[in-house]
Amino acid sequence: MTETAAAEAADESKQPSTAIVAFENVEKRFGDQTVLDNLCFDVAPGERVTLIGPSGSGKTTILRMLMTLTRPDNGIVRIDGEPLFHEQRGDRLVPASDKHVRALRSRITMVFQQFNLFPNMKVLRNVTEAPVRAHGVPKAEAEERAASLLELVGLRDKLDAYPAQLSGGQQQRVAIARALAVQPDILLLDEVTSALDPEIAAEVLDVLREVARTTDVTMLCVTHAMRFARDVSNRVLMFCDGKIVESGSPEQLFGDPRHERTRRFLKSVL
Ligand code: ADP
Repeated sequence: MTETAAAEAADESKQPSTAIVAFENVEKRFGDQTVLDNLCFDVAPGERVTLIGPSGSGKTTILRMLMTLTRPDNGIVRIDGEPLFHEQRGDRLVPASDKHVRALRSRITMVFQQFNLFPNMKVLRNVTEAPVRAHGVPKAEAEERAASLLELVGLRDKLDAYPAQLSGGQQQRVAIARALAVQPDILLLDEVTSALDPEIAAEVLDVLREVARTTDVTMLCVTHAMRFARDVSNRVLMFCDGKIVESGSPEQLFGDPRHERTRRFLKSVL
């Protein structure tokens, strides 16, 4: 490298990262199993990234880590440049206070495979509960926001229903509205269509396509539904054994996979 190129590279490394999510050399072990292996990746604001790969390759662990349900053993997870599990003290990183973690964590929500709605609350209250209780949004404002989100997911007429009175697909659509109600910067989706019949799953997919079209929320999705990956995401990461073996646009990764492991995986699911 010439001196100028080296100086430019050094300068570049000083630029603050524009990533909204960054995993820097993240390691996670359960017992003697390495689940995330020196993992590095970035997600840009507004990107919709799908994580695919065989079962047990560490995809859900990544989402759980962003939800602070599990911690890295090594490495740094950043949200908008801020370490999630650490705080800067002078030039050192020290374990983060609960307050620091809560503040960053409040920008992220997750939708689960099994919906996890509050069974004893009507649909409207399911959607307003977190904004009102955890984010201090006035009730009237939360209800107005909830009504427009329920409109977005096609359930404006179900405000007064209880979850048990809804189909699985409808419950999942409420769960999506609920996750968006706190106006997150980052929406995590963990196998959100895998408990649903294909036809109903398509309904949920349509809703997520609409969310992607009408909001600038950053999405990270774990899925085995390749149609979902193709339709909703603009980048696909293929995982194996806690590492990314290949990443690319859906067109590239599905149309012309470069890695043998990706080809084998796609053959097994398509
Ligand atoms: P994926 O989402 O790709 O299927 P996961 O992230 O769920 O993979 O899991 C990766 C590996 O970590 C699996 O082998 C799983 O059994 C293991 N694992 C996940 N969570 C725990 C835990 N809390 N305790 C022990 N092992 C775990």
